[in-house]
Amino acid sequence: MGDVLKSDVTASSTSTRLTDGCIDSSPFECDYGRHLTVNNDYLYEERIIGVGNVGLFATMDITKGTVLFQEQPFVANASSAEEFEKELIENVQKACDFATQMEFEDLSDRIHQATVMNQGWYSEDEKYSPAVQKDLDRHFEIGMFAKFLLLPPELQQKWLSGHDAFQEISKVGVCAVGIFGLDGGLDLNGKIGKSTGYDDESKSYLVEVPGHDDLVAIKRENLKTPGGVFRCNAFPIGLLSLRARLNHACNNNMDAKIITNTQGGQECELRTNRDISQGEELTGCYLNWSEASTEYRRKALSAKYGFLCQCTACQNDEIVTNV
Ligand SMILES: [Zn+2]
Repeated sequence: MGDVLKSDVTASSTSTRLTDGCIDSSPFECDYGRHLTVNNDYLYEERIIGVGNVGLFATMDITKGTVLFQEQPFVANASSAEEFEKELIENVQKACDFATQMEFEDLSDRIHQATVMNQGWYSEDEKYSPAVQKDLDRHFEIGMFAKFLLLPPELQQKWLSGHDAFQEISKVGVCAVGIFGLDGGLDLNGKIGKSTGYDDESKSYLVEVPGHDDLVAIKRENLKTPGGVFRCNAFPIGLLSLRARLNHACNNNMDAKIITNTQGGQECELRTNRDISQGEELTGCYLNWSEASTEYRRKALSAKYGFLCQCTACQNDEIVTNV
């Protein structure tokens, strides 16, 4: 392990999107290309709406019920819980070093014991105890970066082009990380490296970066992980890059539906749910609820996606019905 390079890079605190859940000014590349099976892109355009913040906007008046696009996931979710577990174990065996494989096995055993013995639960609010939750988080982190490491570079780039509202990274184990939002100094933005530990003194992660002999100290806000981006951006069928460009509004004007294509694959179809005027922002809804107050919605969105909703329904404190 080389010496820690005290880089002269400084964090650009404005680089992360603060109000919505999907995009930051990420240097990671994202082309929608071949995963769009239907694309009526004359109806919408991507616009930058603030530092590190983009959205989709109507380029003309669009009538209710119009399809904007159909998109296949570029990373598909497993079809069942059993399939997911099997794939997870295989990925970790293929992609991770021996120490991480052992760590993963220990975590699996502990989680299994805690949940089977029912020792992990706080009965009053059905949450896991902090210790079990910590194990679950690390288990997920390893599973996700193993899956990530087995992908070709263009899909890794696409994965990391999504926003990570969490940036939770293990301080002891290894984790694949993407670097972004650094001002000046070393040309590290857009590189994919490996976090190997944490330096308490500089409050930075120690990252192995391809092309650098020494470890580079990087602060948490300039790193994202495959697991963090996945938690923030994944849909039930997997990771969708264009769908993820849609900002959230509790009174959204677009509806997403899962459809099965002729090859039996699953796609997300996006359709207007009311008439939309030229220039209006196109919005989706990240959560489902039957009827909810602004307080409830903001709390749920903040917990799951890490932002405070500023949609018109929230600003006007409206109750929203949404099934
Ligand atoms: Zn809202």
